[in-house]
Amino acid sequence: MNDCIFCKLANTPNAIIAENQHAFAIRDINPSAPIHLLVIPKEHIRSLNQIDAKSETMNAIIKLAQDLSNDYQIAGYKLNCNVESAGGQEVMHLHFHFLAKSSDKSIA
Ligand code: AMP
Ligand code: ZN
Repeated sequence: MNDCIFCKLANTPNAIIAENQHAFAIRDINPSAPIHLLVIPKEHIRSLNQIDAKSETMNAIIKLAQDLSNDYQIAGYKLNCNVESAGGQEVMHLHFHFLAKSSDKSIA
C-alpha cells in the first residue's frame, strides 16, 4: 500500500532481521525494552480485527515469533498488539511488539 511505512519496510531487505513466507521482523525504531522487535505480516492488513484468525498469515506471525525466540535464545518475551487507534495503534498496518529483556545470542 502506498504511504505505509511497514509496506515499504517489507521491501527493504537491509531492515529485515528474520522472515518467512508471510511475515517479517524488524527492530522498533524507538525501543521500549532491551530487545524490541516488530513482527509484521507482509500483506497490508489494517489491524488485528481485520485478519482471519485461522489464516496462513496469522500462523506465520506466530511461527516467526517462536523462531525469533529459538534462534536468538530468548528465554521469554511479551508479544503485544495494539488494536485500532482507541487501543493505542499508531501505525495502521498490523504488527506485534516482541519485547524481551535479553537474548543469549546477539541479534544481527
Ligand atoms: P503502535 O503504537 O502499536 O502502532 O506501534 C508502532 C511502533 O512502530 C512504535 O513502537 C514505533 O516506534 C514503531 N515504528 C514507527 N516507525 C518505524 C520505523 N520506520 N521503523 C521501525 N519501527 C517504527
Ligand atoms: Zn502496509
